[in-house]
Amino acid sequence: MGYNIAIIGASGMVGRKILQILDEEGVNIKNLYLYASSRSAGEEVQFKNNIYKIIQLKTENIIDKKIDYALFCAGGSISKKFAPTFANLGVIVIDNSSAFRQDDAVPLVVPEVNAHALKHHNNIISNPNCSTIQAVVALAPLHERYGIERVVFSTYQAVSGAGKDGLEDLINGENQPPKKFTAPIYNNVIPHIDEFLPNGYTKEEQKMIDETTKILEDKGIKITATTVRVPVQNCHSESINVQFEKPFDLSDVKEILNNAKGVVVMDDITNNIYPMPVNANNKNQVFVGRVRVDDSAENALNMWVVADNLRKGAATNAVQILQTLINN
Ligand code: NAP
Repeated sequence: MGYNIAIIGASGMVGRKILQILDEEGVNIKNLYLYASSRSAGEEVQFKNNIYKIIQLKTENIIDKKIDYALFCAGGSISKKFAPTFANLGVIVIDNSSAFRQDDAVPLVVPEVNAHALKHHNNIISNPNCSTIQAVVALAPLHERYGIERVVFSTYQAVSGAGKDGLEDLINGENQPPKKFTAPIYNNVIPHIDEFLPNGYTKEEQKMIDETTKILEDKGIKITATTVRVPVQNCHSESINVQFEKPFDLSDVKEILNNAKGVVVMDDITNNIYPMPVNANNKNQVFVGRVRVDDSAENALNMWVVADNLRKGAATNAVQILQTLINN
């Protein structure tokens, strides 16, 4: 028994984290196929007690294998090119890129929030954007209780969110020009993640807007976002200002968050306790703190949300989707 699993982009930051989480979660694997580009094809990767050679991603290296699930983490253009090939062969694809997230036929899933969306799919399932995942884990239970009218996201995103080249830009940044970012990230803050759109927003900002409403299944929620890269190695932080339809009680909000699946509340300002990247690093949960009333608008609340972008923002969420599919 066991599942035949492929990872597309296995040599990258998310791919390597997926391997780690498959191991931690004890997912029953029969055969494991690790794909990447010609750059890392042939490299050896250890998983449990076995050594696997990275396979170059090309059609002839796919069709000769029996694969049940393929976890894609090699960027949008690779997903667009190869995910349909896998899906047509009957493989269930869990895709970390933005390629299919806005496709109505493709579920966009955060298991704590909308696992029910997995009931109907055409063999492709999208993992949301990292900053959206951690936001909706905290927002969904509050939306259910009070109804969200408007959200203002301001993000402080780690360099690992931009892959291995992003991390290198921070590590080498004091002495070398940037390879990945538009400006040095060392000792700097860059208000620019992904490409600019004609409306002046970035694609990252637009993703937070579009993906939040899709996952919360409420196109009526008004959302705006500013997404910013900060010189932190790992874990995204977010200031979330939310306005509800109904009046709320702050202690009830904290109680809801305390009981929410996947959330850890760290909110004790008398002892300087609030979430920070150092707390969330290498953890699978979403950490929430600085929960407080915003008196400048009706029924408004501020909170601070931190999570490991490589884990809950990508690999953990993808493996949770896999486990939900396997167990149902
Ligand atoms: P990364 O560290 O740069 O890794 C990219 C991976 O894609 C590498 O394994 C690379 O293989 C592979 N790849 C690139 N071109 C390829 C090709 N032509 N054929 C086959 N494989 C190819 O990036 P990452 O951070 O892991 O991100 C991967 C995906 O996950 C992206 O779509 C990203 O948007 C998404 N995502 C990332 C995060 C995050 O926090 N990093 C969070 C959510 C979603 P080589 O080693 O051979 O180059």
